[in-house]
Amino acid sequence: MTGTTVLVVEDEAAIRTLLRRCLEGDGYAVREARTEAEVLTALKDGPVDLITLDLNLGGESGIEIARAVRKVSTVPIIMVTGKGDVIDRVVGLEVGADDYISKPFHVREVLARVRSVLRRAQTPPTADVPPVPDAGAADDFEFAGFVARASTLELRDASGAAVDLTGGDFKLLQVFLEHPRRVLSREQIMDLLNGPGWSPLDRTIDNQVARLRKKIEKVPGDPKLIKTVRGVGYIFTAKVTQIPASAAPAGEQYA
Ligand code: CA
Repeated sequence: MTGTTVLVVEDEAAIRTLLRRCLEGDGYAVREARTEAEVLTALKDGPVDLITLDLNLGGESGIEIARAVRKVSTVPIIMVTGKGDVIDRVVGLEVGADDYISKPFHVREVLARVRSVLRRAQTPPTADVPPVPDAGAADDFEFAGFVARASTLELRDASGAAVDLTGGDFKLLQVFLEHPRRVLSREQIMDLLNGPGWSPLDRTIDNQVARLRKKIEKVPGDPKLIKTVRGVGYIFTAKVTQIPASAAPAGEQYA
């Protein structure tokens, strides 16, 4: 025995049993829960070193359970997600999950994730703040066929045509490009645009996002690049590649 206890949160008995066997086979003690109430009871009843948390628990949402756990505990959480749950995955990481596994999973993958999350949890953190690219440090960005140049506030689409953006549109786009695939609340977007302490007017951000969508989304009414995360804010879904200015061919510089 490693003396390490894993709490498996899953509503399907077959998957609970699969995870129990795989974890016990590797020397972990396993406890089980199916609902938020059972999870909170389990945390009170004895030590839990790690939680595997299914996101789709029939009636209950794993995201809500992760939130509830984070109010009372810093225990590491590995989310178990369905194939297409990209936004749930991101929200889960935002509300404090440490890692995720996608179904269908292989037991070896589960064990590898569990070990690595436990190892990370046992290493004292050097800094609490996740590394966020320094605003202004990035120069050019590529995403979904577009190229954005921060030095000239210029956006070109895949055909090379310039997209007509105002300075404000570009600033908002740059906030998203510097924080891709992360859920940003309206307040965070406000702070990133204007500096902290700005009193947030949610509608203003919504209007600015709507305007930017009209310029970069194929179908503004069905946005794929800037998605709304209901009750939270927005997420920029595209893969963003940062190109340092020094890496751009000389003729491509517009400084
Ligand atoms: Ca389930």
